[in-house]
Amino acid sequence: MSQCRFCRKPLTRTFIDLGLQPLANSYRRFDQLQFTEPRYPLHAKVCESCFLVQVDHDVPPDAIFSDYAYFSSYSPSWVEHARHYAKAMISRFALHENSLVVEIASNDGYLLQHFGTAGIGVLGIEPAGNVAKEAEARGIKTEVAFFNRDTAARLRAAGVQADLMAANNVLAHVPDINEFVSGFPLILSDQGVLTVEFPHLLNLIEQTQFDTIYHEHYSYLSLLACERIFGAHGMRVFDVEELPTHGGSLRLFVCHNSADHKPAEGLTRVRQKEKWAGIGDLATYGGFNARAEEIRDELKDFLRDTKEENLNVAAYGAAAKGNTLLNYCGINTDLISVVFDKNPHKQNHYLPGSQIPIKSPDLITHTKPDVLLILPWNLRDEIMAEQSTLKGWGGRFVTAIPRLNIF
Ligand SMILES: [Zn+2]
Repeated sequence: MSQCRFCRKPLTRTFIDLGLQPLANSYRRFDQLQFTEPRYPLHAKVCESCFLVQVDHDVPPDAIFSDYAYFSSYSPSWVEHARHYAKAMISRFALHENSLVVEIASNDGYLLQHFGTAGIGVLGIEPAGNVAKEAEARGIKTEVAFFNRDTAARLRAAGVQADLMAANNVLAHVPDINEFVSGFPLILSDQGVLTVEFPHLLNLIEQTQFDTIYHEHYSYLSLLACERIFGAHGMRVFDVEELPTHGGSLRLFVCHNSADHKPAEGLTRVRQKEKWAGIGDLATYGGFNARAEEIRDELKDFLRDTKEENLNVAAYGAAAKGNTLLNYCGINTDLISVVFDKNPHKQNHYLPGSQIPIKSPDLITHTKPDVLLILPWNLRDEIMAEQSTLKGWGGRFVTAIPRLNIF
């Protein structure tokens, strides 16, 4: 029987079983389509002891990250989010030219660039060599490595002590959460602050965001679970902000147990909110599977109807969350002809599983779809504004989560 990634208790409770799925970020080339792609069980469980929701599988991390095609800079709202973050942190923690900001999973440097231009020292740590190269090209010093205890110990020995550390949307992506978190205290200065962002489990449950579950996301986090995890490594959460990103995220402010940072109002507020919502009560986790099945049936019925009406259905956004949705619903090119995506690294590839071809959004005005299914529903407003020409030929935008919605 498998064990909890954090507390090692046996995992027996199903949260949702999404069946066998290909890796959500393994976009395929044309010459690969003739070969069967590997599929792995995608089964999320909740730990009865610490309430960490986690997927239970043994996909090697190398298989998941080796051909990583996501470049953060391709999403304007994400770049804007990063700019706001940098401004707020510089002001709140009085960062200056002798400060050091370290980001874990620094991607193409989209976040650190804002500290760099403010004259503050930066260091990125990024496992994907191809994206790290782009960061270096824009002048962001980047260590190509998986962050863990060993990497942190090596950097500490080299004198790295961070005044601010950012680990945004990365904690959920690590298979060994204890090994990962144990690296933070090694390179965080005595009064340093670590900020951690992740999609809030509370929203995932309340809005049935099952499509955010994929192999690359090992854990689905709550404040409750995180306070236990950081506590086990000599750290504590002292403030929490609620953010609209990724369908509702938390930003935790974490420090050494011995640091001076006082517990702030945000911590009490989110603790209370989770308590009322029953995050520490196993009954809250039941019924999720059944709600996902309803969404699946609703979307498939809609797509079959549009097919009967001979409507041209396309999708927008070749995001990982779209792949979980499409493959869970068994949707392929029979129902959706093409998916448009701005990222040139994804264009002219095919979605894993569904094998839907990915094309540039420049082709939308030629294809003139009657229905455009927006897969990254969290970017809905941005995408609808960018693709407003769709309305010119009477096209409709559709999102599937939390329920089928037609705009
Ligand atoms: Zn546990």
